[in-house]
Amino acid sequence: MSAPRRALPPTGAVSRRATAPRRARALGWACAAVVVLVACSGGGVPAAIPASAAAASPVATDAPPAQPALPLAGRTVVLDPGHNGGNGAARGEVTRQVPDGRGGTKACNTTGTSTDAGYTEHAFAWDLAQRVQARLTAAGARVVLTRPSDDGVGPCVDERGRAGQAAGADLMVSLHADGSAAGNSGFHVAYSNPPLNPAQSGPAVVLAGDLRDALVAGGFRVSDYIGENGLSPRPDLGGLNFATVPAALVECANMRNAAEAAVLASADGRERYAAAIAAGIQRFLAA
Ligand code: ZN
Repeated sequence: MSAPRRALPPTGAVSRRATAPRRARALGWACAAVVVLVACSGGGVPAAIPASAAAASPVATDAPPAQPALPLAGRTVVLDPGHNGGNGAARGEVTRQVPDGRGGTKACNTTGTSTDAGYTEHAFAWDLAQRVQARLTAAGARVVLTRPSDDGVGPCVDERGRAGQAAGADLMVSLHADGSAAGNSGFHVAYSNPPLNPAQSGPAVVLAGDLRDALVAGGFRVSDYIGENGLSPRPDLGGLNFATVPAALVECANMRNAAEAAVLASADGRERYAAAIAAGIQRFLAA
């Protein structure tokens, strides 16, 4: 069905071909004008040579049509891939206590979990962040990650929690996978509760709901062991407590569940998660 369409030249090529003779004609007239002027002026200053004016018209017709703005142009998103690959070898640094955002303290960071086969949560979160970033960037957004690689240490949860406002972001999403009993399954999206600021009291809950809805639309099942209908209000996550922009944390699945581990460990599975999470972010930003 598409063969006849393919046989036609693209619109741009038609346009370029159609204007070429016009440009040649204009150039001819411009040369003629210069020749006449030089011949008649006797070497005077050609202050009013219309060469540039003559050339302007056909060039203007070559201007490309205005491109529609990308849907996320001007938006900034912070993605926070959980944990880090160097955390396991930096126990002292990672276990030092930092503020938890509610007057207490907690560990700077943790190593995260892994599948039974050894696929780590930090590697999953890092890979997923790249995939979500690619989709958001293609839609016009500026994307900032809370860590530059998967072989460093930290940052601590309080620093991650402030990353959204530090980047002037419209929102922040933390990316994780859970480590629960093997029989448990499903994703959940956490948000800070009770809320500590206006962004947490409403917009963060909406963001969590948009992510939940997009994951369900992407074929993922809500958690059967934590939260309610895929949402989990949490007081103890420093990475969310410090946020003054809408922030949510996605626990994509249970890495200790064999069926879910297989999805998390496959590039195709991670691409499906990325598509759903990027769609949830876009839904929130479009509202
Ligand atoms: Zn985690």
